[in-house]
Amino acid sequence: MQRDSFAKFKALIKKSENSVIVTHWSPDGDAMGSSLALYNYFLKIKKKATVIVPNDYPEFLFWLPGNNKVLNFQREADKVKKAIEKADVIYTLDFNSFKRLEKLGEIVNESKATKVLIDHHQQPDKFAQLWFYDVKACSTCELIYDLIVGLGGKKLIDKKIASCLYTGLMTDTGSFRFPSVTANTHKIIGDLMDKGAIPNEIHSAVYDTYSYHRMKLLGYSLTEKMHVLAEKNAAYITLTSDELKKFNYQKGDTEGLVNYPFSIKGIKFCVLFVEQDGIIKLSFRSKGKFDVNTFARTNFSGGGHINAAGGKSNLSLRETVNKFLGLVNQSDFKV
Ligand code: 5GP
Ligand code: MN
Repeated sequence: MQRDSFAKFKALIKKSENSVIVTHWSPDGDAMGSSLALYNYFLKIKKKATVIVPNDYPEFLFWLPGNNKVLNFQREADKVKKAIEKADVIYTLDFNSFKRLEKLGEIVNESKATKVLIDHHQQPDKFAQLWFYDVKACSTCELIYDLIVGLGGKKLIDKKIASCLYTGLMTDTGSFRFPSVTANTHKIIGDLMDKGAIPNEIHSAVYDTYSYHRMKLLGYSLTEKMHVLAEKNAAYITLTSDELKKFNYQKGDTEGLVNYPFSIKGIKFCVLFVEQDGIIKLSFRSKGKFDVNTFARTNFSGGGHINAAGGKSNLSLRETVNKFLGLVNQSDFKV
């Protein structure tokens, strides 16, 4: 944990004239929620800020207040480069290695702006001058809430900011069921509700948005593509790019799929393999002590949290699955 003093943040914000807020590749609810909460807070205190994402994110996040102002590096690289050139401070949210920005990482790395890291993932790279970092935080949105409150901005949290924050807290905790949830998480949620966040509306806006095809893809994945390694307490699902195409895949359609096998008694380790954009994208989830951050970092060029991590592989899907099975089938492998 490293939380620099609010006095330092106050001084930085006071003298800053152009901030950039950037979040990780394939942004999720916490990435967009935290970025747009901070953006809306900066609007309130009359500070200029631009939110930048490396690539597309799912449509079920488009309702977030401020979404129409987000710059997407894949779609508008020139505007993004200009915003970064002008920036005196760059806030890096919900990631802790420039690798998580892919190509955009080089531009952010080269910028002379002061870098501020606000994150809750394991093992951060040391690129930032100012830190608000805590692996115990259930989400980056929890950290943004603490930061705004610490800056004396609690009364400035309105329905827009509260709804952004609620979204990240909800999505990163699997709707408040992961061990990262504390009494404090719920106290924050209570406060966000007082400020106007409406849980049932936000939950529906994020989760009740399946297309017909996405629902069919879920059914197909569970009936045809799920493999259970009962003696290893593990399960995995594989999807080829042809299968995605068959189900008219849209960004976000495999989100959450990795968690379904946890509903089977005894399963404590779930993996999703998706063949996409010429590589295999892996998602790892665990229940309990098994550290998927280390597993992903050591074997699949990835990382994340103890119980949720991602990674990638340049091998074919079959070779990637075989590599995984080789690891899991070692006699001393235990979750
Ligand atoms: P997901 O499986 O949902 O893509 O990612 C799970 C968690 O791991 C998220 O917190 C995400 O930020 C992180 N993560 C996903 N892919 C990578 C990766 O390639 N490298 C690192 N360091 N973290 C990742
Ligand atoms: Mn997060």
